Amino acid sequence: MKSFTTRSLNIAFPKKDPHNALAMPIYESVAFEFASAEDIAANFRGELPAHTYSRTSNPTVEYFETKVKTITGAHQVLALSSGMAAISATILAVCKQGDNIISGKNLFGHTLALFEQSLSAYGIDTRFVDTTNPELIEPLIDKNTRAIYFETVTNPQLEIADISRLAEIANRHNILLIADSTVTPPSVFSSKSLGVHIEVMSATKFISGGATSFGGLIIDNGLYDWNKNPNCLKLTEKFGKDAFIARLRKNYYRNMGMPMTAHTANYMISGLDILELRVERCYQNCMKLGEYFRQNPKVTRVDYPGLKDSPYYDLALKQFGGVPGSVMTFDLKSEEECFRFMNRLQIIRRATNLNDNKSLIIHPYSTIYTEFSENDRREMGIRPSMMRLSVGIEGSEDLIADMEQALDE
Ligand SMILES: *Cc1c(COP(=O)(O)O)cnc(C)c1O
Repeated sequence: MKSFTTRSLNIAFPKKDPHNALAMPIYESVAFEFASAEDIAANFRGELPAHTYSRTSNPTVEYFETKVKTITGAHQVLALSSGMAAISATILAVCKQGDNIISGKNLFGHTLALFEQSLSAYGIDTRFVDTTNPELIEPLIDKNTRAIYFETVTNPQLEIADISRLAEIANRHNILLIADSTVTPPSVFSSKSLGVHIEVMSATKFISGGATSFGGLIIDNGLYDWNKNPNCLKLTEKFGKDAFIARLRKNYYRNMGMPMTAHTANYMISGLDILELRVERCYQNCMKLGEYFRQNPKVTRVDYPGLKDSPYYDLALKQFGGVPGSVMTFDLKSEEECFRFMNRLQIIRRATNLNDNKSLIIHPYSTIYTEFSENDRREMGIRPSMMRLSVGIEGSEDLIADMEQALDE
């Protein structure tokens, strides 16, 4: 098979461009015209596929979806306004009041808030469990359980679950396995080959190509029989294998107004074309920083599942080709030391995002987790002495020099 980048650069447009443009034009148009009253009627009956209104579908967004679909070998792909839109639309499409999902306990903060606050208000419950310990999952499954949800690498804990084992459990109970793969983008991770039914992702992070815009992706790998989900069942008769995406397009995505814009899709398309290069560079930087931290006595601890002595190294190798994203954590002696260090940095930026082209650092204990009790933070593995570093594409010598001058007495 040709390389990720070669494939990404050579995916045909859904329709030939009238000017033979090499780059997909940005179709920033709300509505699309029909040649006759008969045609528009046929379109509304579902007999003449065409773009009608960009909150439902748009040519530039469709091209981005086609690229992701072709590269990942997925059955269907939907691009949305943000990662949170992708996650919330997915759960709403497969659950109704009285249903529940089982989720990993260490989650992106707003996903946790979605599950604990937003969805619970509509009678959709979440049962939290340590997904790195799959034996704990089965006892939580009942007749109203619709899905197991997890993140491929949790952050900032950097834990990795055994995905094949999660898929085995999900399949045994005819429920969905949903993975948030934001930190392990498609150039290093094939959710389909590991049996994940639905992959959701914040394209805002790695794919946008430098934190330019918000976006989300829902990827249906085509591995799930939608007859087994009572909420999608009715649609299988008409839409077959497309039941889930049809439920999204004709309901949540359209009715709750979650579309990606054409301008954003343009950023995402360019970002995808250079994704493999950026991820590889970030990984090389992580490995060099790992070595640097190891030999510096002021750094008391380093975590990155790409490092050989990580407890998750073998799973990272098996599931992500040894490239478990580019988020790492490291510890200094105390919170005060961390603050002093962060304030002296000149190249590495203090910010809360992930997978920008720029390296970003944050002290999770005093920021993202500040509202949690000391005890909760301890249980979640959020140490006062720990910093999270999202490693970017700068030169590794420059990153190390910045660390070195900031750690200096
Ligand atoms: C950022 C992030 C999200 C949410 O994505 P947005 O595009 O900000 O809505 C979801 N999951 C993970 C793991 C993230 O890092």
